Amino acid sequence: MRKLTKLKTNIDIVYNSNIVEYLDADYLYIPMKKNYKTLVKTNEYVYKGTILLEDNLNKIVSPISGKIIGMTTLNVDGRPGNAIVIENDFKEEEKKNRKYKDNKYDRDFIISRLYEYYFKYVASTLETKKINNLVISGFDDEPYIQNNAYVLKKYHREILEMADILASSFEIKNTSIVIKSNNTDNIETFLSKIGTYPNISLRLIEDKYLLATPFFLLEYLDLKDIDSFVIDAKTMYELYNAIKYNKFTYETFITIAGPSLVKSMVLKVKVGTLMKDIINNKFKINNKGNNLFILDGLMTGSPCQIEKTMVTKNTIGLIVIPDEEIKENSCINCGMCYKICPVRVNPKKVMDTGVRSSNCINCGLCSYICPSHINLRAFLEGNHE
Ligand code: SF4
Ligand code: SF4
Repeated sequence: MRKLTKLKTNIDIVYNSNIVEYLDADYLYIPMKKNYKTLVKTNEYVYKGTILLEDNLNKIVSPISGKIIGMTTLNVDGRPGNAIVIENDFKEEEKKNRKYKDNKYDRDFIISRLYEYYFKYVASTLETKKINNLVISGFDDEPYIQNNAYVLKKYHREILEMADILASSFEIKNTSIVIKSNNTDNIETFLSKIGTYPNISLRLIEDKYLLATPFFLLEYLDLKDIDSFVIDAKTMYELYNAIKYNKFTYETFITIAGPSLVKSMVLKVKVGTLMKDIINNKFKINNKGNNLFILDGLMTGSPCQIEKTMVTKNTIGLIVIPDEEIKENSCINCGMCYKICPVRVNPKKVMDTGVRSSNCINCGLCSYICPSHINLRAFLEGNHE
Protein backbone atom coordinates (compact mmCIF):
# COMPACT_ATOMS: atom_id res chain seq x y z
CA MET A 1 0.00 0.00 0.00
CA ARG A 2 1.11 3.56 -0.74
CA LYS A 3 2.84 5.33 2.16
CA LEU A 4 0.85 8.41 3.11
CA THR A 5 1.89 11.11 5.55
CA LYS A 6 0.39 12.36 8.80
CA LEU A 7 0.69 16.13 8.96
CA LYS A 8 1.86 17.81 12.14
CA THR A 9 -0.33 20.70 13.23
CA ASN A 10 1.58 22.70 15.78
CA ILE A 11 -1.07 25.36 16.38
CA ASP A 12 -3.80 24.68 18.93
CA ILE A 13 -7.12 25.89 17.61
CA VAL A 14 -10.36 25.85 19.56
CA TYR A 15 -13.35 25.55 17.26
CA ASN A 16 -16.83 26.73 18.09
CA SER A 17 -18.92 23.68 18.79
CA ASN A 18 -21.84 24.95 16.70
CA ILE A 19 -21.87 26.03 13.10
CA VAL A 20 -22.05 29.81 12.98
CA GLU A 21 -23.98 31.48 10.17
CA TYR A 22 -23.16 34.64 8.27
CA LEU A 23 -25.93 34.97 5.70
CA ASP A 24 -26.69 38.69 5.70
CA ALA A 25 -23.93 40.51 3.83
CA ASP A 26 -25.00 43.81 2.22
CA TYR A 27 -23.49 42.83 -1.14
CA LEU A 28 -22.78 39.51 -2.84
CA TYR A 29 -20.31 38.93 -5.69
CA ILE A 30 -21.02 36.24 -8.27
CA PRO A 31 -18.10 35.28 -10.55
CA MET A 32 -18.66 35.67 -14.31
CA LYS A 33 -17.37 32.47 -15.83
CA LYS A 34 -15.64 32.19 -19.17
CA ASN A 35 -18.02 31.12 -21.98
CA TYR A 36 -21.08 31.79 -19.83
CA LYS A 37 -23.78 34.13 -21.10
CA THR A 38 -24.81 36.86 -18.64
CA LEU A 39 -28.61 37.04 -18.43
CA VAL A 40 -29.01 40.07 -16.15
CA LYS A 41 -28.31 43.79 -16.48
CA THR A 42 -27.30 46.56 -14.10
CA ASN A 43 -30.27 47.93 -12.10
CA GLU A 44 -32.31 44.77 -12.69
CA TYR A 45 -34.11 43.21 -9.71
CA VAL A 46 -33.30 39.55 -9.08
CA TYR A 47 -35.00 36.97 -6.90
CA LYS A 48 -33.23 34.26 -4.97
CA GLY A 49 -32.95 31.57 -7.65
CA THR A 50 -33.01 33.94 -10.67
CA ILE A 51 -30.60 32.61 -13.30
CA LEU A 52 -27.68 35.06 -13.64
CA LEU A 53 -25.37 33.18 -16.00
CA GLU A 54 -25.65 30.10 -18.18
CA ASP A 55 -23.84 27.93 -20.67
CA ASN A 56 -25.22 24.90 -22.52
CA LEU A 57 -25.35 22.71 -19.43
CA ASN A 58 -25.05 24.85 -16.33
CA LYS A 59 -26.82 27.78 -14.79
CA ILE A 60 -25.70 30.04 -11.95
CA VAL A 61 -28.47 31.42 -9.77
CA SER A 62 -28.67 34.37 -7.38
CA PRO A 63 -28.31 33.34 -3.71
CA ILE A 64 -30.28 36.41 -2.54
CA SER A 65 -32.99 38.80 -3.72
CA GLY A 66 -31.94 42.38 -4.51
CA LYS A 67 -30.67 44.69 -7.23
CA ILE A 68 -27.77 44.19 -9.63
CA ILE A 69 -25.61 47.27 -9.13
CA GLY A 70 -22.82 46.51 -11.60
CA MET A 71 -19.66 44.48 -12.14
CA THR A 72 -16.26 44.50 -10.42
CA THR A 73 -12.90 42.72 -10.59
CA LEU A 74 -12.09 40.31 -7.74
CA ASN A 75 -10.12 37.17 -6.94
CA VAL A 76 -12.14 34.22 -8.22
CA ASP A 77 -10.85 30.88 -6.81
CA GLY A 78 -7.30 32.27 -6.68
CA ARG A 79 -7.28 34.18 -10.02
CA PRO A 80 -8.39 37.69 -11.05
CA GLY A 81 -11.85 37.66 -12.59
CA ASN A 82 -15.02 39.70 -12.99
CA ALA A 83 -18.03 39.38 -10.74
CA ILE A 84 -21.64 40.56 -10.78
CA VAL A 85 -22.44 42.69 -7.69
CA ILE A 86 -25.88 42.22 -6.08
CA GLU A 87 -27.18 44.57 -3.40
CA ASN A 88 -29.06 42.54 -0.81
CA ASP A 89 -32.62 43.67 0.00
CA PHE A 90 -32.79 41.05 2.80
CA LYS A 91 -36.26 39.92 1.69
CA GLU A 92 -34.99 36.50 0.56
CA GLU A 93 -37.75 36.51 -2.08
CA GLU A 94 -37.45 33.28 -4.00
CA LYS A 95 -38.33 32.74 -7.63
CA LYS A 96 -41.06 30.12 -7.63
CA ASN A 97 -41.26 28.79 -11.14
CA ARG A 98 -40.97 25.11 -10.45
CA LYS A 99 -43.90 22.91 -9.57
CA TYR A 100 -43.44 19.36 -8.40
CA LYS A 101 -45.67 16.46 -7.77
CA ASP A 102 -44.83 14.23 -4.83
CA ASN A 103 -41.23 13.10 -4.85
CA LYS A 104 -40.75 9.41 -5.54
CA TYR A 105 -37.17 8.47 -5.07
CA ASP A 106 -36.55 6.21 -8.00
CA ARG A 107 -33.55 6.22 -10.31
CA ASP A 108 -35.02 8.43 -13.04
CA PHE A 109 -36.43 10.98 -10.63
CA ILE A 110 -33.10 11.36 -8.80
CA ILE A 111 -31.01 11.65 -11.97
CA SER A 112 -33.29 14.26 -13.52
CA ARG A 113 -33.48 16.23 -10.27
CA LEU A 114 -29.68 16.23 -9.95
CA TYR A 115 -29.23 17.53 -13.50
CA GLU A 116 -31.83 20.19 -12.84
CA TYR A 117 -29.98 21.38 -9.74
CA TYR A 118 -26.59 21.31 -11.52
CA PHE A 119 -25.03 18.30 -9.81
CA LYS A 120 -23.87 17.25 -13.24
CA TYR A 121 -20.95 15.10 -12.13
CA VAL A 122 -22.98 13.16 -9.55
CA ALA A 123 -25.89 12.74 -11.98
CA SER A 124 -23.77 11.48 -14.86
CA THR A 125 -21.82 9.09 -12.58
CA LEU A 126 -25.03 7.58 -11.20
CA GLU A 127 -26.45 7.40 -14.70
CA THR A 128 -23.52 5.70 -16.38
CA LYS A 129 -21.74 3.60 -13.77
CA LYS A 130 -22.94 0.50 -11.90
CA ILE A 131 -22.01 1.39 -8.35
CA ASN A 132 -21.46 -1.34 -5.79
CA ASN A 133 -19.66 0.76 -3.19
CA LEU A 134 -20.87 4.18 -2.13
CA VAL A 135 -18.28 5.85 0.09
CA ILE A 136 -19.24 8.96 2.05
CA SER A 137 -16.17 10.80 3.27
CA GLY A 138 -16.69 12.84 6.43
CA PHE A 139 -13.34 14.57 6.77
CA ASP A 140 -11.08 17.10 5.09
CA ASP A 141 -7.43 16.91 4.08
CA GLU A 142 -6.09 20.36 4.81
CA PRO A 143 -4.89 21.00 8.37
CA TYR A 144 -7.43 23.12 10.32
CA ILE A 145 -10.20 22.76 7.70
CA GLN A 146 -13.13 20.96 9.32
CA ASN A 147 -16.05 21.46 6.91
CA ASN A 148 -16.96 17.84 6.18
CA ALA A 149 -16.46 16.69 9.77
CA TYR A 150 -18.79 19.47 10.98
CA VAL A 151 -21.43 18.87 8.33
CA LEU A 152 -21.35 15.14 9.08
CA LYS A 153 -21.86 15.82 12.78
CA LYS A 154 -24.58 18.44 12.38
CA TYR A 155 -26.54 16.87 9.52
CA HIS A 156 -25.96 13.14 10.20
CA ARG A 157 -29.70 12.35 9.96
CA GLU A 158 -30.01 13.99 6.53
CA ILE A 159 -26.82 12.33 5.27
CA LEU A 160 -27.89 8.87 6.46
CA GLU A 161 -31.31 9.32 4.87
CA MET A 162 -29.76 10.45 1.58
CA ALA A 163 -27.34 7.51 1.61
CA ASP A 164 -30.25 5.15 2.17
CA ILE A 165 -32.26 6.70 -0.69
CA LEU A 166 -29.29 6.38 -3.09
CA ALA A 167 -28.56 2.80 -1.98
CA SER A 168 -32.12 1.60 -2.57
CA SER A 169 -32.75 3.58 -5.78
CA PHE A 170 -29.49 2.50 -7.43
CA GLU A 171 -29.23 -0.97 -5.85
CA ILE A 172 -25.88 -0.16 -4.26
CA LYS A 173 -24.59 -3.17 -2.31
CA ASN A 174 -22.27 -1.47 0.19
CA THR A 175 -22.56 2.02 1.63
CA SER A 176 -20.04 3.26 4.14
CA ILE A 177 -19.49 6.43 6.10
CA VAL A 178 -15.78 7.07 6.50
CA ILE A 179 -14.50 8.95 9.54
CA LYS A 180 -10.97 9.57 10.82
CA SER A 181 -10.23 7.31 13.80
CA ASN A 182 -9.26 10.31 15.97
CA ASN A 183 -12.66 12.00 15.53
CA THR A 184 -14.29 10.34 18.54
CA ASP A 185 -17.17 12.81 18.54
CA ASN A 186 -18.37 11.81 15.07
CA ILE A 187 -17.69 8.12 15.73
CA GLU A 188 -19.96 8.21 18.80
CA THR A 189 -22.67 10.08 16.86
CA PHE A 190 -22.69 7.52 14.07
CA LEU A 191 -22.45 4.45 16.28
CA SER A 192 -25.61 5.61 18.03
CA LYS A 193 -27.51 6.29 14.77
CA ILE A 194 -26.29 3.80 12.23
CA GLY A 195 -28.24 0.85 13.75
CA THR A 196 -31.39 2.18 12.07
CA TYR A 197 -29.69 1.65 8.71
CA PRO A 198 -28.50 -1.98 8.58
CA ASN A 199 -27.06 -1.53 5.08
CA ILE A 200 -24.78 1.35 6.01
CA SER A 201 -21.50 0.69 7.80
CA LEU A 202 -18.94 2.85 9.53
CA ARG A 203 -15.32 2.69 8.39
CA LEU A 204 -12.48 4.29 10.30
CA ILE A 205 -9.29 5.50 8.67
CA GLU A 206 -6.00 6.90 9.92
CA ASP A 207 -5.38 10.64 10.07
CA LYS A 208 -3.23 10.78 6.93
CA TYR A 209 -2.99 13.54 4.37
CA LEU A 210 -4.61 13.05 0.92
CA LEU A 211 -7.20 10.50 2.04
CA ALA A 212 -9.91 13.02 1.19
CA THR A 213 -8.86 12.61 -2.45
CA PRO A 214 -11.09 9.85 -3.91
CA PHE A 215 -8.21 8.10 -5.70
CA PHE A 216 -6.17 7.70 -2.50
CA LEU A 217 -9.20 6.90 -0.35
CA LEU A 218 -10.37 4.06 -2.61
CA GLU A 219 -6.84 2.66 -2.71
CA TYR A 220 -6.66 2.84 1.12
CA LEU A 221 -10.03 1.09 1.47
CA ASP A 222 -9.00 -1.51 -1.11
CA LEU A 223 -11.89 -0.63 -3.43
CA LYS A 224 -11.85 -0.28 -7.19
CA ASP A 225 -12.79 2.91 -8.99
CA ILE A 226 -14.74 0.95 -11.60
CA ASP A 227 -17.65 0.17 -9.24
CA SER A 228 -17.15 2.72 -6.44
CA PHE A 229 -18.20 6.31 -5.94
CA VAL A 230 -16.88 8.71 -3.28
CA ILE A 231 -19.07 11.65 -2.24
CA ASP A 232 -18.11 14.00 0.60
CA ALA A 233 -20.46 14.86 3.46
CA LYS A 234 -20.99 18.45 2.30
CA THR A 235 -22.12 17.31 -1.15
CA MET A 236 -24.40 14.64 0.36
CA TYR A 237 -26.14 17.34 2.38
CA GLU A 238 -26.56 19.48 -0.76
CA LEU A 239 -27.97 16.50 -2.67
CA TYR A 240 -30.43 15.92 0.15
CA ASN A 241 -31.68 19.51 -0.08
CA ALA A 242 -32.06 19.33 -3.86
CA ILE A 243 -33.76 15.94 -3.93
CA LYS A 244 -36.01 16.25 -0.88
CA TYR A 245 -36.73 19.97 -0.77
CA ASN A 246 -36.09 21.31 -4.31
CA LYS A 247 -33.43 23.65 -2.94
CA PHE A 248 -30.53 25.15 -4.84
CA THR A 249 -27.17 25.42 -3.08
CA TYR A 250 -27.32 29.06 -2.02
CA GLU A 251 -25.02 28.52 0.96
CA THR A 252 -21.81 26.66 1.62
CA PHE A 253 -19.62 25.70 4.60
CA ILE A 254 -16.14 27.13 5.07
CA THR A 255 -13.57 27.04 7.87
CA ILE A 256 -11.80 30.20 8.99
CA ALA A 257 -8.95 29.32 11.32
CA GLY A 258 -5.46 30.19 12.42
CA PRO A 259 -3.25 31.40 15.26
CA SER A 260 -3.97 35.07 14.50
CA LEU A 261 -7.66 34.62 15.39
CA VAL A 262 -9.19 34.58 18.86
CA LYS A 263 -11.47 31.75 17.77
CA SER A 264 -11.55 29.49 14.73
CA MET A 265 -14.88 28.46 13.28
CA VAL A 266 -16.74 26.54 10.65
CA LEU A 267 -19.34 28.88 9.15
CA LYS A 268 -22.34 28.60 6.90
CA VAL A 269 -22.16 31.52 4.44
CA LYS A 270 -23.88 32.59 1.24
CA VAL A 271 -21.97 31.83 -1.94
CA GLY A 272 -20.68 35.24 -3.12
CA THR A 273 -19.87 36.71 0.30
CA LEU A 274 -16.67 38.76 0.51
CA MET A 275 -14.07 37.31 2.92
CA LYS A 276 -13.48 40.77 4.39
CA ASP A 277 -17.17 41.02 5.42
CA ILE A 278 -16.99 37.62 7.14
CA ILE A 279 -13.78 38.49 9.00
CA ASN A 280 -15.07 41.91 10.10
CA ASN A 281 -18.43 40.60 11.27
CA LYS A 282 -17.56 37.27 12.85
CA PHE A 283 -13.90 37.24 13.93
CA LYS A 284 -11.49 39.01 16.25
CA ILE A 285 -7.86 39.14 15.23
CA ASN A 286 -5.52 38.81 18.20
CA ASN A 287 -2.24 39.45 16.42
CA LYS A 288 -1.39 43.17 16.33
CA GLY A 289 1.25 42.79 13.59
CA ASN A 290 0.68 42.02 9.92
CA ASN A 291 -1.27 38.90 9.03
CA LEU A 292 -1.28 36.66 6.03
CA PHE A 293 -4.59 35.33 4.69
CA ILE A 294 -4.27 32.03 2.87
CA LEU A 295 -7.20 30.96 0.75
CA ASP A 296 -8.12 27.26 0.84
CA GLY A 297 -5.54 25.85 3.21
CA LEU A 298 -1.88 25.76 4.16
CA MET A 299 -0.90 22.83 1.95
CA THR A 300 -2.55 23.73 -1.35
CA GLY A 301 -3.87 27.27 -0.90
CA SER A 302 -2.33 30.62 -1.77
CA PRO A 303 -2.17 34.09 -0.15
CA CYS A 304 -5.09 36.39 -0.94
CA GLN A 305 -6.42 39.87 -0.21
CA ILE A 306 -9.63 39.45 1.76
CA GLU A 307 -11.13 42.65 0.33
CA LYS A 308 -10.85 41.13 -3.14
CA THR A 309 -11.77 37.52 -2.41
CA MET A 310 -15.27 36.07 -2.43
CA VAL A 311 -16.60 32.70 -1.34
CA THR A 312 -17.44 30.43 -4.26
CA LYS A 313 -18.91 26.92 -4.24
CA ASN A 314 -15.32 25.62 -4.38
CA THR A 315 -14.00 27.62 -1.42
CA ILE A 316 -13.02 25.51 1.58
CA GLY A 317 -11.74 28.22 3.88
CA LEU A 318 -9.24 30.84 4.97
CA ILE A 319 -6.20 30.43 7.25
CA VAL A 320 -4.98 33.53 9.11
CA ILE A 321 -1.36 33.45 10.32
CA PRO A 322 1.22 36.08 11.36
CA ASP A 323 3.02 37.40 8.29
CA GLU A 324 6.59 36.40 9.08
CA GLU A 325 9.06 36.21 6.29
CA ILE A 326 10.27 32.65 5.81
CA LYS A 327 13.82 32.61 4.52
CA GLU A 328 14.55 29.99 1.88
CA ASN A 329 17.99 28.38 2.29
CA SER A 330 20.02 26.43 -0.24
CA CYS A 331 19.12 22.85 -1.07
CA ILE A 332 21.11 20.38 1.04
CA ASN A 333 20.34 17.40 -1.23
CA CYS A 334 18.59 15.51 1.56
CA GLY A 335 16.15 13.81 -0.84
CA MET A 336 13.19 14.23 1.50
CA CYS A 337 11.03 15.99 -1.11
CA TYR A 338 11.35 13.04 -3.46
CA LYS A 339 10.78 10.50 -0.70
CA ILE A 340 7.55 12.11 0.48
CA CYS A 341 5.98 12.68 -2.95
CA PRO A 342 2.97 10.35 -3.24
CA VAL A 343 3.20 10.19 -7.04
CA ARG A 344 6.99 9.78 -7.35
CA VAL A 345 7.79 13.15 -8.87
CA ASN A 346 11.27 14.49 -8.08
CA PRO A 347 10.65 18.13 -7.04
CA LYS A 348 14.36 18.94 -6.70
CA LYS A 349 14.87 17.91 -10.33
CA VAL A 350 12.00 20.18 -11.38
CA MET A 351 13.63 23.01 -9.40
CA ASP A 352 17.03 22.38 -10.98
CA THR A 353 15.92 21.85 -14.57
CA GLY A 354 12.76 23.96 -14.79
CA VAL A 355 11.04 21.03 -16.52
CA ARG A 356 7.65 20.61 -14.84
CA SER A 357 5.91 17.28 -14.32
CA SER A 358 2.36 16.58 -15.44
CA ASN A 359 2.13 13.91 -12.71
CA CYS A 360 2.33 16.47 -9.89
CA ILE A 361 -1.00 16.70 -8.05
CA ASN A 362 -0.04 19.99 -6.34
CA CYS A 363 -0.41 18.49 -2.86
CA GLY A 364 2.31 20.66 -1.31
CA LEU A 365 3.99 17.83 0.62
CA CYS A 366 7.42 18.59 -0.86
CA SER A 367 7.30 22.22 0.35
CA TYR A 368 5.96 21.02 3.72
CA ILE A 369 8.86 18.62 4.31
CA CYS A 370 11.78 20.64 2.89
CA PRO A 371 14.21 21.49 5.75
CA SER A 372 15.53 24.45 3.73
CA HIS A 373 12.01 25.95 3.49
CA ILE A 374 12.16 26.02 -0.30
CA ASN A 375 8.78 26.72 -1.87
CA LEU A 376 8.97 23.73 -4.18
CA ARG A 377 5.29 23.97 -5.04
CA ALA A 378 6.01 27.28 -6.75
CA PHE A 379 8.66 25.56 -8.93
CA LEU A 380 6.17 22.80 -9.72
CA GLU A 381 3.64 25.44 -10.76
CA GLY A 382 6.27 27.39 -12.70
CA ASN A 383 5.94 30.61 -10.70
CA HIS A 384 8.84 30.64 -8.24
CA GLU A 385 10.46 34.10 -8.23
S1 SF4 B 1 3.38 19.03 -4.88
FE1 SF4 B 1 3.76 17.64 -6.62
S2 SF4 B 1 5.93 17.16 -6.52
FE2 SF4 B 1 5.36 18.04 -4.53
S3 SF4 B 1 4.91 16.25 -3.28
FE3 SF4 B 1 2.97 16.93 -4.16
S4 SF4 B 1 2.76 15.75 -6.05
FE4 SF4 B 1 4.90 15.55 -5.41
S1 SF4 C 1 13.78 18.56 0.54
FE1 SF4 C 1 14.59 20.61 0.12
S2 SF4 C 1 16.70 20.46 0.77
FE2 SF4 C 1 15.98 18.36 0.59
S3 SF4 C 1 16.52 17.74 -1.53
FE3 SF4 C 1 14.43 18.54 -1.59
S4 SF4 C 1 14.74 20.72 -2.13
FE4 SF4 C 1 16.70 19.98 -1.41
